[in-house]
Amino acid sequence: MGEPDVIKEDLAQQLYGLVERIFPFPRSITGNGVRQTLREIQRLLPALVIHEVPSGTRAFDWVVPDEWNIRDAYVLDETGTRVIDWRKNNLHVVSYSTPVDAEMSLRELDQHLHSLPDQPEAIPYVTSYYERRWGFCVAHNQRTRLKDCRYRVVIDSRLEPGSLTYGELIIPGEEPSEILLSTYTCHPSLANDNVSGLAVTTFLARGLLEQPRRRHTYRFVFVPETIGAITYLSRNLAEMKRHVIAGFAVTCVGDDRSYSFLSSRKGDSLADRVALHVLKHLHPDFVQYTYQDRGSDERQYCAPGVDLPVASVMRSKYGAYPEYHSSLDDLSLVTPAGLQGSYDVLRRCMECIEANEYLRVTVLCEPQLGRRGLYPTLSNNHPGHQVRELRNLIACCDGTRTLLGIADKLNLPMWDLIPLAETLKGHGLLVASGPHSRKDI
Ligand code: ZN
Repeated sequence: MGEPDVIKEDLAQQLYGLVERIFPFPRSITGNGVRQTLREIQRLLPALVIHEVPSGTRAFDWVVPDEWNIRDAYVLDETGTRVIDWRKNNLHVVSYSTPVDAEMSLRELDQHLHSLPDQPEAIPYVTSYYERRWGFCVAHNQRTRLKDCRYRVVIDSRLEPGSLTYGELIIPGEEPSEILLSTYTCHPSLANDNVSGLAVTTFLARGLLEQPRRRHTYRFVFVPETIGAITYLSRNLAEMKRHVIAGFAVTCVGDDRSYSFLSSRKGDSLADRVALHVLKHLHPDFVQYTYQDRGSDERQYCAPGVDLPVASVMRSKYGAYPEYHSSLDDLSLVTPAGLQGSYDVLRRCMECIEANEYLRVTVLCEPQLGRRGLYPTLSNNHPGHQVRELRNLIACCDGTRTLLGIADKLNLPMWDLIPLAETLKGHGLLVASGPHSRKDI
C-alpha cells in the first residue's frame, strides 16, 4: 500500500528468503518438521501461538492421527551405495511411511516405488496418512535404471501417539469482526504448493502488525491441510461463525505466471467480491475457477453448516501447473516477484475490506465543494479527473451502497476512492450509514 519501491524490493527478497529457509524442512501433517517450520515463522511473528493437539482427539468426523517423524531413509545397492537417499530430497519417502529395515529383490522393492512415467525426471509427492504402508518416490528414469540385485531398504521413521501441531496468531482490531487467513504447513519440499503460502501469510501478518490501526481483527492460522483445518474448526467454529466476515485460503502464491481466483461455496461473499474487484483492476487476465474446482482448506471452511466465507487468490493453482506435487515444484519455480505480487493482491483485499462501509451524503442536493477547497472555483467545462470521481462518489452515497459496491458501479479501483471518501468524511459531507450490525457487506 504505497510503499516506496526500494522497500518493496526488500520485501520481495524477504519473502523469498523465508521460502528458501523453510523449503528443506521435512514437513508432514504432524511431526518435528512442522514444529521446525512454525518456530522459524515465530522468529518473524513472535506472538504466534503454537498449539499441540494429542493423537486420538476427535475432530468432527475425524480423529487426530499418530505423529510421524523421520530421521533418515535410503535404499542401498549391493555395493553399499545410496541409490535412493531421503537426505537429498525429502520427497523420496512416501509421507507417513511406517519404519522398515529389510533386504529384498528389485521386484519386491519395485512394488513400493512411485514414479511419474509422463514426467520421467520428476520425483512425485505421495502421502499415505490413513493407510499404514511404506514407499519410496523416485524419478521414473531412475526407477527404470535400477539394477536387478539385492537391496537393503531402510526407513528410520516413527509413527506413534504424539500430537498435531498448528500455529495461530490473532491480531486484534477495533472491532470483533474478523478476517481469516489460513495456510497449510504439511507439504515438504514443494515451493509453490505450499511453502509460498507460508511465506506470504507470515509477511501479511507482519504488515498488519506494522499498521497503526486496524478496524477488523485478523485470525492467522497455520495448519496441516484437511486434518489441521478440521481440527482447528472443531475447536473454534462457534467463535469463527460469529466473527469471520471474510477469509482467504493462502496457497500456491509463489510463481509468476497467471493469477487465479477460486470462489467460496456461496460465491458472493465479501471475500469473493473483494478478491474479484482487486484482481479485475490489478491483473485482469486472471484465471477464474469455481468452487467445483476446489482442493484446499476452503473444502472445510465452506462446508455445509460451517459456512465460512473463504475464497482463494492464487498464482498457478494446485493441480493446474505441470510441476504440481513433484520435485519440479522447487525453488526455481517461485520468484521474489511472484511472491510479492500475491502479497500485494492480498494486501489490497485487506485494505478494501478495512475501508468498506455504507456511506451517505449529509446534505441535500450537491454539496458546495468550492468553499471547502475541493473544487476549482474558476468554473469551466473541464473539471479535473479527480473532481469527476469525487462528484460521482457523492452521487452514489445514498446509504444503500458500500464503498466496494460504489467502486464496482463506477468501475474504479476502490483504493482510488478511499482517500476521496476520507476527505469527504473529514469535511462532514459523508457519514457511515446503514446496517451497522452487518459487517459482511
Ligand atoms: Zn498440495
